[in-house]
Amino acid sequence: MDLLGERRAGAVRATAAILLLFFACGFLLYSFNILSGRREMAALSTTMGQRIIVLDPGHGGVDGGAKGPGGIKEETVVLGVAKYLAKYLEQAGAKVFLTREKDIELAASNVEDLDARLDLARDVAADIFISIHANSFPSPYEFGAQTFYCHNHPGSKFLAENIQDSLVAGIDVLGYNYRKVQEAEYYVLRNLAIPANLIEVGFLSNPREESLLSQSAYQKRLAYCIFVGVVRYFSQDTAIDGPQ
Ligand SMILES: [Zn+2]
Repeated sequence: MDLLGERRAGAVRATAAILLLFFACGFLLYSFNILSGRREMAALSTTMGQRIIVLDPGHGGVDGGAKGPGGIKEETVVLGVAKYLAKYLEQAGAKVFLTREKDIELAASNVEDLDARLDLARDVAADIFISIHANSFPSPYEFGAQTFYCHNHPGSKFLAENIQDSLVAGIDVLGYNYRKVQEAEYYVLRNLAIPANLIEVGFLSNPREESLLSQSAYQKRLAYCIFVGVVRYFSQDTAIDGPQ
């Protein structure tokens, strides 16, 4: 082999070595990602597996709830968010029940409709109950999601704080959401003996937020933030009984 041939052979060997290294690194990174992904999934299913969660998309049927200036109805938005949230929770191993999966009311009267939602939570022995609503206000400038709780259970406030923190950190499309958790005597909260929250996912009375709330990508984002809040709640030792 002449000098040029030797150089060429050397260059080929060097290239082959670099390629081999490249593929080896790629394989290691790939394996690591799969492994760490598996570890995360295992941790998630330890936290979320066997949890029974009732999601309650508010209103439905004859009661459409609030309506934005663009005609977007609360009953539709909250059903979308609840369905995405159910998917995330189920993927993490939780058992999820929705009080409604279509645009229907659950009973002829308003109180019976609400009682039917609470009955489901009792019948399935739910660990937590989350009612999802959308807000409306005379001023078109109000915006932002807000989580409500009541004194029915010490875990309710703790759950609300986890969800609200996650919503504030994860969504600032219209600006910083300064809303904090708030105590409220909602029927669906005070009549349950388990940690229960009611989330107003945003203001339909704000035209910009109404538009966001109507989009499935934004509904998904809301659902993901709520999901993260729920996982954080369950991942803390105090989750079941709330902070002592
Ligand atoms: Zn509502």
